[in-house]
Amino acid sequence: MPPMNKDKSFLSNPEWVKGTCDCGIVQFEIKYPARWSYHDHSAGTRSAMGTASVTYVGSWRKRFKITNGEDALSDYRNDDKALTRRFCIECGTPITYERDASPHMVNIPRGLFREGVGREPRYHVRMSEMPDWAYTGEQVNPLKDYPTVLYERPRKSKKLKTPEDMF
Ligand SMILES: [Zn+2]
Repeated sequence: MPPMNKDKSFLSNPEWVKGTCDCGIVQFEIKYPARWSYHDHSAGTRSAMGTASVTYVGSWRKRFKITNGEDALSDYRNDDKALTRRFCIECGTPITYERDASPHMVNIPRGLFREGVGREPRYHVRMSEMPDWAYTGEQVNPLKDYPTVLYERPRKSKKLKTPEDMF
């Protein structure tokens, strides 16, 4: 059973947890707690989302509802991969990722919820597909004059090419 955060006193509505797209048109809710939460490192998600990985919240479909902006949702159907991705046509925010193989589940990016969903993302799916550029917790250091930017020292296993070496 996935770990559960039993303290839901911080929720504005202890029964349902709200999420929205970036522009706010699409609004939805899942019933608390979510089924589970996980980090998806798969190549398919990377290609669709343009990111190293995405943290998803998995909800039973019957515990998920669109509460506003259903007309602003567009579907991207991928028959080869047997999945459907839905996104907001106004702002492009991905809303759901649904697999034919799991018809009773809806996966929603964790970042669309501002409140706790009752499950911590302790699971990792398809870690073997992680790209070698994914951040995996290496030590970071301050970058002079850029307070919001940190940088990693080169990894010892790789020889760093300087611009001179490249030509
Ligand atoms: Zn939107």
